[in-house]
Amino acid sequence: MAKGIIFLLACALMFQGMPIIKGGYPGAKAWAEEKEEARYLERRRAMVRTQISDPPGYRKPIRDENVLAAMLAVPRHLFVKPNDLSKAYGDFPLPIGHGQTISQPYVVALMTDLLEVTPEQRVLEVGTGSGYQAAILSSLVKEVYTVEIIRALGQQASARMRRLDYNNVHLKIADGYYGWQEHAPFDRIIVTAAATLVPPPLLRQLRPGGKMCIPVGGQYRVQHLTMVEKSEAGRITMKKILPVRFVPFIRAGE
Ligand code: SAH
Repeated sequence: MAKGIIFLLACALMFQGMPIIKGGYPGAKAWAEEKEEARYLERRRAMVRTQISDPPGYRKPIRDENVLAAMLAVPRHLFVKPNDLSKAYGDFPLPIGHGQTISQPYVVALMTDLLEVTPEQRVLEVGTGSGYQAAILSSLVKEVYTVEIIRALGQQASARMRRLDYNNVHLKIADGYYGWQEHAPFDRIIVTAAATLVPPPLLRQLRPGGKMCIPVGGQYRVQHLTMVEKSEAGRITMKKILPVRFVPFIRAGE
């Protein structure tokens, strides 16, 4: 009897020292990470289906396969604050600090869809924020140039782009009102903060035949997501798409 107990104790002590008891067998971390990735992918699938491709009746469904594939591929949870991981795939914008937000998934998909991008294009984004919209565009076009006015957000987004290998996204910290002259003209321009008027430098930096998607309207007024088109002859036309609510366009020095 006593021998049996001693044997059991010895076994327990021996096993206690083994890695399996301490919780680390080879591949455990990778396995857990894979499982977590699969969980997030499942959430992205649900996001794309219920909010974007087959949304409630009051929304226009987005059908472009490339846009849907990009929305499915980009890990949105890596663009939100760590505290908001569980909300990353919800049907709403989320705060990213400095009074700014990462846009609602549907709005990102809709703006991307409206731009009708093609793989050889060069796109300017004004308002990098988290970098999520730039990451979505990254797989759909040749180069993305993105400008952010808040230094801390720009630095964070830049590090994130490098870490996640979005190598065709180029970022500048500056007032996006002036666009990015060195790389103009752009085939497409997307502005993700609401301006009271379309900044004239952006109109100039849009290539003839190009399109711009921009929320237009004051901070406390109705803003309209607006499509701006420049004809080959340089004529500008604007079309209101739908009422939206974006954070305001900031001007340097304000
Ligand atoms: N596209 C972003 C959404 C960002 S919210 C995303 O996917 O996360 C709007 C962003 O525009 C904010 O980060 C804000 O700082 C930035 N912004 C506002 N005015 C700007 C300006 N004049 N130039 C550049 N960025 C500006």
